[in-house]
Amino acid sequence: MDLKQIESILRNSGSANNLVLKKEIEILKSKAIDRQDEELANKLWCLENINEIQFLFISAFNNLKKKEYYKAWSDFSYIDIKLCYFREHSENYYTDSDEYGLLFIEEYSRKFQKLFPYKYFLSRESIIKKQRCSVCGTEITIRKKCKHSVGELYMGEMCVRIVSELQFLAIALVRDPFDKYAVIFPQDLEYNYGALEELLNLLETPYEKWGLTVIKRIGEKFVDARRNGLCPCGSEKKYKKCCKNTQKELIDHYAIKLNQNKGNNSILRYKEFGTWK
Ligand SMILES: [Zn+2]
Ligand SMILES: [Zn+2]
Repeated sequence: MDLKQIESILRNSGSANNLVLKKEIEILKSKAIDRQDEELANKLWCLENINEIQFLFISAFNNLKKKEYYKAWSDFSYIDIKLCYFREHSENYYTDSDEYGLLFIEEYSRKFQKLFPYKYFLSRESIIKKQRCSVCGTEITIRKKCKHSVGELYMGEMCVRIVSELQFLAIALVRDPFDKYAVIFPQDLEYNYGALEELLNLLETPYEKWGLTVIKRIGEKFVDARRNGLCPCGSEKKYKKCCKNTQKELIDHYAIKLNQNKGNNSILRYKEFGTWK
């Protein structure tokens, strides 16, 4: 396969045999490196990433279908991180017609993530003691740097820092970390994946379009609460002195809309979903 053929497969939202394509790209890239053709090697780095991002998106969708929610979550988190590094090197692949599906994947990864009940994460706090450049191997210190900069492409590889020694400080509980892998799974509590389940019952393919609106409504157990009665949250305080008129009694209400273009039977559903079951 040559560059043109690979690009054409990726333009049609990738291939089912992503691994075969990965091999083909690797072969071309090592040839480019042998010839010291940096421009081509860097182009192939982009194609490698597009292939992987498309594959992750399909994998996330399949995991959702199988109700492997944490696996799907990890796929989406990985897509986030990949796209974040990828974008500056790949303007050519973000076209108005979104041939490579990258804009679609970015938009829909975010939308899927919004439907996950995960709200809190663990984040590591640490000090880097020893690190080196992934391109030339130079050990980087405050006084010593090499000529490569992090995030730049060199002969088909992106420069990163490889950390070999880390001083661990603490683990923090956070709401919006850069990497969202460390989801907390509290004992005796089960997450409610109702919104995702509902949506996945309606979707047949990962590239189907759908819309989502989230509005806040009073949670079911608060609807009939009396001002002077006990608060339904279980605090044993009076409702008016506890959750009444606060965020605590509000719950996310999702409206999922499918554009199926099959006549006018687009489906609109409202459903109440909290974080926990
Ligand atoms: Zn270097
Ligand atoms: Zn309360």
